[in-house]
Amino acid sequence: MAKILHRYYEIKDYKKTTSIVENAMKKARSVIPQGQVATYIPELGKVDSNQLGICIYPLTGKKVCLGDYDRRFTIQSISKVMMLVAALEICGKERVFELTGAEPSGEAFNSIVELDRENSKPYNPLINSGAIAICGMLTKEISFQDILRYTRKVCNDADIILNEEVYDSEIKTCSRNRSIAYLLESKNIINGDVDDILRFYTKCCSMSVTAESLATMARILCNDGVGEESTKRYMSASTARIVKTLMLTCGMYDGSGTFAINVGIPSKSGVGGGLMSVSDKRAGIGVFGPALDPKGNSIAGIQLLKEISNKLTLNLFYDPEWDEPQKESNFADQIMNHHFQSK
Ligand code: GLN
Repeated sequence: MAKILHRYYEIKDYKKTTSIVENAMKKARSVIPQGQVATYIPELGKVDSNQLGICIYPLTGKKVCLGDYDRRFTIQSISKVMMLVAALEICGKERVFELTGAEPSGEAFNSIVELDRENSKPYNPLINSGAIAICGMLTKEISFQDILRYTRKVCNDADIILNEEVYDSEIKTCSRNRSIAYLLESKNIINGDVDDILRFYTKCCSMSVTAESLATMARILCNDGVGEESTKRYMSASTARIVKTLMLTCGMYDGSGTFAINVGIPSKSGVGGGLMSVSDKRAGIGVFGPALDPKGNSIAGIQLLKEISNKLTLNLFYDPEWDEPQKESNFADQIMNHHFQSK
């Protein structure tokens, strides 16, 4: 029987944790004016950019939820995680990585340039070209309703629906994704009805979630595929591991490296302002902050995670001295001494 696999992380002092997160929210709010809501999907342009919420769902113990953690927003690119999980589970990793690579692209999420090089396939499944390629494979196996049902289950949220306004708004204006899909077709990476594949992809992006629902799915990934009630497996451990690894290296697009240095938690962003973060074996985290930085990632969400990741020991590379004033380093001296001694 499946079970909670890891219990060593626990929030012990809820009052202290809450006050750390509250302070971090204050700091994060101050960067909101530097960001902007996405407008290339016209409907997203109507969203109030001042919202900010977080839900931290540890493997053991209660959730910590603050701010707009229960507001609904569209999942957008975080659904690439659901698509990838479904593809790995249904088609297997060999087929998935025949179709797409597993490397960061270093380009924007909706870039087409690297795909147009000869013999190239999408760099990874977490950018638009990779996800659309995955959708080409998935539409032969399942329907959007299957993804929706699965998302409701892993998020433990029966209220997730297709946001029709956002879907209509995107499907009418998605010339760029359409170009990507046709380029994929020209390279035989997808075959099948391009419109069907684009509709499937765009519907997946238009599911309405909350920060709390994302934290619930993230917690399953944390626990190597096993859910809260500790009896149910939602994906294989190897699927969870592949997804987490790609989230760490590619989940924040061309901001993935800087994010890894500052936050150190595998995460996936969406232009709806969501972030789903997996602090492995510790906690699932969902964040909502719709003002975006130029790379299309939640500007306040990143700031918030940056403030808490090390303080709450959620950073994969936790360093007890990280938040302390930098000590003077005697590295150079040591190296020099070593150098002279060894001569
Ligand atoms: N639906 C969006 C798109 O395809 C998702 C992009 C994102 O969230 N980064 O452009």
